[in-house]
Amino acid sequence: MKRVFSGIKPTGHLTLGNYLGAMRRWNTVDQHEADALFCVVDLHALTVDHDPGRVRRLSRQAATLLLAAGLDPQLCTVFVQSHVDEHARLSYLLECVATDGEMRRMIQYKEKAAAERARGGSVRLSLLTYPVLMAADILAYGTDEVPVGDDQTQHVELTRDVAVRFNQRYGRTFVVPRTTHPEVAARVMNLQDPTSKMGKSDDVGPGVVYLLDEPEAVRKKIMRAVTDSGSEVVHDREARPGVSNLLEILAACEGGNPKDLAGVYETYGSLKKDTAEAVVELLRPVQQKHKELCADPAYVEGVLREGAEKAREMARPRVDAAYRAIGL
Ligand code: ADP
Repeated sequence: MKRVFSGIKPTGHLTLGNYLGAMRRWNTVDQHEADALFCVVDLHALTVDHDPGRVRRLSRQAATLLLAAGLDPQLCTVFVQSHVDEHARLSYLLECVATDGEMRRMIQYKEKAAAERARGGSVRLSLLTYPVLMAADILAYGTDEVPVGDDQTQHVELTRDVAVRFNQRYGRTFVVPRTTHPEVAARVMNLQDPTSKMGKSDDVGPGVVYLLDEPEAVRKKIMRAVTDSGSEVVHDREARPGVSNLLEILAACEGGNPKDLAGVYETYGSLKKDTAEAVVELLRPVQQKHKELCADPAYVEGVLREGAEKAREMARPRVDAAYRAIGL
């Protein structure tokens, strides 16, 4: 059975982008067809300015939402990255294989570092080395496939390069993984700025739909989404990013193809209305289940504890082998 690994950062509240770009496939496909691990990657949340209590709360919330959205601990392994030491152990070895030039070429690093400097802050070294830790997350488990949104493609490419290089230098230790993306909505865009992705770290903004938003908030955000000049409903990501984003969200919620859906709508208003209702319906059962799980924190705790034990057992032999292979 193929091995699948993916993760989510507790740097903010989970968004519709996280759900459509990654989580939905984890629930509907990966956990059924693969030996799958899903991880709240809390160490990654320390790469930018963070509040310790908030990271802890958001980690728990993210894990609860993963379960609420449909991950079943009977079918897959759900855990928190920092509970399994193997990630950090392997990361250091991979730092001895990756180069600083590779790190500095990462688009996400360039963007986040520039934003940090613009705020007058300093850039944490861990922001630069983040993709190596991500490579360790993936490679520790002998992962074949990494289901992620479009924004993570470059990091998974780097993971492949590092795995190949390690194997060539020190003997075959790691599986070289590939990425999978959803066919539609692999990059959900910000509703107020459809040229940039809907990111959970964008603070509570009107352009971001959060999984725990009340129905009225969802409707308001989608009805106020920036659309493009012109009035025809067409799917063209370059020329009409706002409308195309809504078509993709709707297509992802209801199934179907954004280009075909474009032919169904004559006005932006009716497209927005249907998109809003589709998202409200999509989130309703997730929010209901989240509420139930919040009432039973011991259950979530137990899932994460068992998940970490399983993950540790899966990771340890390969990480030990990597230590031996590299000369330790
Ligand atoms: P972020 O902090 O940007 O929300 P994470 O790094 O925690 O993202 O990503 C978790 C998963 O969600 C990743 O697979 C990522 O590719 C996906 N994802 C994040 N934002 C989006 C988006 N706007 N559209 C599609 N997928 C996304």
